[in-house]
Amino acid sequence: MSMALRTMKLDECLEMLGGAHYGHLACSNEGQPYVVPIYFAFQARVAYSFSMQGKKVEWMRRNPKVCLQIEETPSKSSWRSVVLTGKFQEFPDDQVWHEERIHAWSLLEKQLNWWEIGSLTPDPLPPAPTSNHLFYGIYVSDISGRKATQTD
Ligand SMILES: Cc1cc2nc3c(=O)[nH]c(=O)nc-3n(C[C@H](O)[C@H](O)[C@H](O)COP(=O)(O)OP(=O)(O)OC[C@H]3O[C@@H](n4cnc5c(N)ncnc54)[C@H](O)[C@@H]3O)c2cc1C
Repeated sequence: MSMALRTMKLDECLEMLGGAHYGHLACSNEGQPYVVPIYFAFQARVAYSFSMQGKKVEWMRRNPKVCLQIEETPSKSSWRSVVLTGKFQEFPDDQVWHEERIHAWSLLEKQLNWWEIGSLTPDPLPPAPTSNHLFYGIYVSDISGRKATQTD
């Protein structure tokens, strides 16, 4: 069995991202990487997501340069993978970000149970003066994709 590996074109990468809802989000702080699985919705070069306050949000506020990776593995010898780098942007509940916040909500609400996983936390949260959840986007700066296919 042999395999062919090729680079995906930009429109293939965008098409795959548009149909994806799950990926691995990487951020970093003072040279230390951190990766977590997340749900997201992708549209017009923005990956929209939802989160509770926590480590990844704190880190992305300090360093908004992030990376999101998705893959499809229909078989051991055929797969597609897209890696995007981008900039984290929060959508606070204010006039400036209102439209993006509503847009994020409208895309994400179509996805089954996304809010339950995004709002899960293993420990009781301390009393918070403001809302514990947030909507955010990752504005794409660079995208690459690779596709492997079985050739015989
Ligand atoms: C299929 C799936 C979909 C998810 N979708 C979302 C989503 O859309 N939005 C969202 O906010 N979260 C989602 N999560 C949960 C997410 O992966 C994180 O667990 C969660 O967001 C908490 O991350 P945090 O950085 O705020 O961690 P904190 O609650 O601040 O905890 C930090 C510590 O807990 C550990 N930790 C945190 N998360 C994980 C993990 N997943 N696995 C192992 N150790 C962990 C870290 O090592 C870290 O030191 C999803 C998880 C899965 C499996």
